[in-house]
Amino acid sequence: MVKYDTVLIRFGELSTKGKNRKDFIRRLDQNIRYMLREHTALTFQRTHDRIYIRLNGEDNEAVKEKLLKVFGISSFSFTEKVKSDLEVIQETCLRIAQESGKKTFKMITHRHDKTFPMNSDGINRACASVILKNTDLKVDVHDPELPIQVEVQKEFTYITSEKIAGLGGYPAGINGKCLLLLSGGIDSPVAAFELMKRGIMVEAIHYASPPYTSDQARQKVLDLASMVSIYQGRMKVHMIEFTDLQLEIYKAAGDPYAVTLMRRMMYRIAEKVAREQGCIVIGTGESVGQVASQTLESIACINETINIPVLRPCVCMDKIEIINIARRIGTYDTSILPFEDCCTIFDPKNPVTKPTSEKAQEYEAKFDWAAMVDECVLSKTTVVVKPEVKEELFL
Ligand code: ATP
Ligand code: MG
Repeated sequence: MVKYDTVLIRFGELSTKGKNRKDFIRRLDQNIRYMLREHTALTFQRTHDRIYIRLNGEDNEAVKEKLLKVFGISSFSFTEKVKSDLEVIQETCLRIAQESGKKTFKMITHRHDKTFPMNSDGINRACASVILKNTDLKVDVHDPELPIQVEVQKEFTYITSEKIAGLGGYPAGINGKCLLLLSGGIDSPVAAFELMKRGIMVEAIHYASPPYTSDQARQKVLDLASMVSIYQGRMKVHMIEFTDLQLEIYKAAGDPYAVTLMRRMMYRIAEKVAREQGCIVIGTGESVGQVASQTLESIACINETINIPVLRPCVCMDKIEIINIARRIGTYDTSILPFEDCCTIFDPKNPVTKPTSEKAQEYEAKFDWAAMVDECVLSKTTVVVKPEVKEELFL
């Protein structure tokens, strides 16, 4: 790989954001610096539509890996920043061609500074001729292995040969907080990633039913939270002990309404914790039709218990799409570990697929669920996870 001295970062989506633009760019800048905090030699420069990072000898590959995890970057390029001087530009293009190990190239010049004494076409020819004279590379204008891009600005010129697609989306934390129901499954970590992509700061709530659910199941959820926390720096995970309430639900409703009631209680608890923690919405990994509790009738019957918006990023995705994202963000292998969660333990044989509000309320009238919901909220424990720290006691 060619060794470059600068990274040029483009914002894409942010550029269209009008009056909030400044805040967005400031937040993106902070997030990039935070992500790269271990690379202490880096220096940063921000202009109205770009962020430039001087590498000062830091490892290109390591920096690239980290930038690929920052939301809000539409694309970035490793570049050489040189004086806007034709000879220097030619030498640099030649060096890039020599170090690339490629066989074909094409010159693509944009002359932003119209006072530069040669036009784009002239610069293309001047650089191509040195490369043709001094290397074995051939020109291929249609499908070059090495497209050398030259961007001539007033004082400096940026020369690059690759454009790397960023994650897109909005910088983490720019759009308020969501409390996500995080299970140990495949879908909810993907939901976390999708919410973060919209700039939403995600906190998680998890319902565990010890001793029916194990410490390993608990750790699995924290591991998943830790994996997705890389996109926002850290993540709070609220752990709820759900056993007593779940046992009461089974006594009152039995099969087949148990899952419906259980999920109504999960939502109620989540709403209370969300309000307490300043989260504006709650989120889930639900996907229509996936299981009995995710028919439209079920979603309606569960959703009616609360008065806070619910975001469901996976709602219309196929399982295969969700799995592909899970693989890409690295959560899949952990998600499929076979530790039981509270749903699988009490999973009834014939869950109702079209529950009604009346029936659900009839079962709920059999016990004092409201007090138990409050009890769950009160007894929650909160953990903060970070990408490199699996568990850090918070309270
Ligand atoms: P997932 O793969 O996310 O577990 P799933 O296909 O297993 O989803 P369900 O078990 O029905 O589907 O759960 C649907 C959603 O409910 C989950 O995506 C998650 O948001 C929430 N949820 C389920 N179980 C729990 C739990 N124990 N703690 C917190 N949230 C949960
Ligand atoms: Mg699940």
